[in-house]
Amino acid sequence: MMWKAHLALGALAGVVLSAFGPSQAPVIITAALLGSLLPDLDHPHSKLGRKVRPLSDLVYAVMGHRTGTHSVLFLVCVSALVGFVHMPAGAGLALGIASHLLADAVSYSTGRPFTTGGAGVPAAWPVSNSRVGVRIVRVNGFFEHFVVTTGAAMLAFAVAALTL
Ligand SMILES: [Zn+2]
Repeated sequence: MMWKAHLALGALAGVVLSAFGPSQAPVIITAALLGSLLPDLDHPHSKLGRKVRPLSDLVYAVMGHRTGTHSVLFLVCVSALVGFVHMPAGAGLALGIASHLLADAVSYSTGRPFTTGGAGVPAAWPVSNSRVGVRIVRVNGFFEHFVVTTGAAMLAFAVAALTL
């Protein structure tokens, strides 16, 4: 999925989580936004990867795209590490990363819609490299732009206006 869609879904995740602790909303939402882009650290040409270029080059050279940073292990380790220092930030990060993994699990750029083989993310990495997901949302397609990106952003604003 494209970075704008990831960011919109991260915003939605952060705002919904903030409803449970409005006093921590700025930290939770910031962490969720960061988490929604973090897995693509493994791609030097991604939005986040370009900003941290030497690091993303290294991660890409060692692991490749959509491997370790797109796994449940990555989600748990990074969120726990941050959560030890600041619990709400860790929770926001966890939900942001989870939104990224779920979005990548249902988005595709090659293959036929509603098929599974090779689609999605390696959720069980490093135990298994096989990808988990189903092709539902075409990357850069109408559904991603208008329904996912716009819808998630509008929903995030609506929830924020109602609860925060
Ligand atoms: Zn990704």
